Amino acid sequence: MLKKKLSIEVVYGTLPPWPNSTILYTDDSAVLVDTLFMKSDAALLAKRIKEIGKPLEAIFLTHSHPDHVWGGVELLRHFPDAKIYARPLIRKEIELDFRARQLRWTGVFNVGPFEGEIPTDLFDIQPLEGDSYDFGGHEIQLVDLKPAETVYATAFYVPEIKTYIAGDQLYNQCHYYIGAGLNRPDLWIESIEDVRARFDIDVVVPGHGYVGGTEIFDEAIDYLSFYQSQYEPYRPQIEMVQALENQYPDWKLEGVIYMTIGPAMTDPALIDLTHGHIKFGEGTIAIGSYSA
Ligand SMILES: [Zn+2]
Repeated sequence: MLKKKLSIEVVYGTLPPWPNSTILYTDDSAVLVDTLFMKSDAALLAKRIKEIGKPLEAIFLTHSHPDHVWGGVELLRHFPDAKIYARPLIRKEIELDFRARQLRWTGVFNVGPFEGEIPTDLFDIQPLEGDSYDFGGHEIQLVDLKPAETVYATAFYVPEIKTYIAGDQLYNQCHYYIGAGLNRPDLWIESIEDVRARFDIDVVVPGHGYVGGTEIFDEAIDYLSFYQSQYEPYRPQIEMVQALENQYPDWKLEGVIYMTIGPAMTDPALIDLTHGHIKFGEGTIAIGSYSA
């Protein structure tokens, strides 16, 4: 019997910090990778899935960060039968950190026009097991990444369309969130090189920014190498911010570099400059969607 055609649509978030979500669908069914972040963005995503018109059978989470997970609350309101999956350690991390992250992000995101956009409770997450997911005869490979933005992360490779869904291991022309995470650009580069060597990839779906090709790998490695050349312990945050902004004046998502070296903005010079409010950048970083 002929397999039903596999289609992909990547929806770009419209609200900060503009994460991406990927819909894979056949004539029979749909699955989703990541959920977007704020409630209104997840509602737009749900609307798009309803337009496609296939039952949503599963949602896979790439990593624990709220901008890829918290939209799940709104999605489950629209698709109560969908199951949300993550690798067991990622699931644990999401559950353990939920309250702390909620407190931390409330001051940044749940203010002004975004009030009410952040969920108050989490949903149930099922353990994601095995090496691949059989999506109606189409193989989706589950790729356990070496440490990159986070210690634990899962990417998804779809061999049939040579498409690599990277989560936040890769962004496209957006500043990388290095210092507030592991602060190990060397390991992050290793993680990227490992994937590049193992898979035959034509299309890269980054966690933030437009879908592209393998140039995203090269640009990521260049950026991480530059960061590494600039970083030294206790270098004032403002100097790192200026160095990265000068080197990459057109890249978006500059809010993440204001949080570089440590989980928060601590440099008095930077607090002075921003009045203590981390701006995630102006406007959106990618518009519309990608389909194939
Ligand atoms: Zn992200």
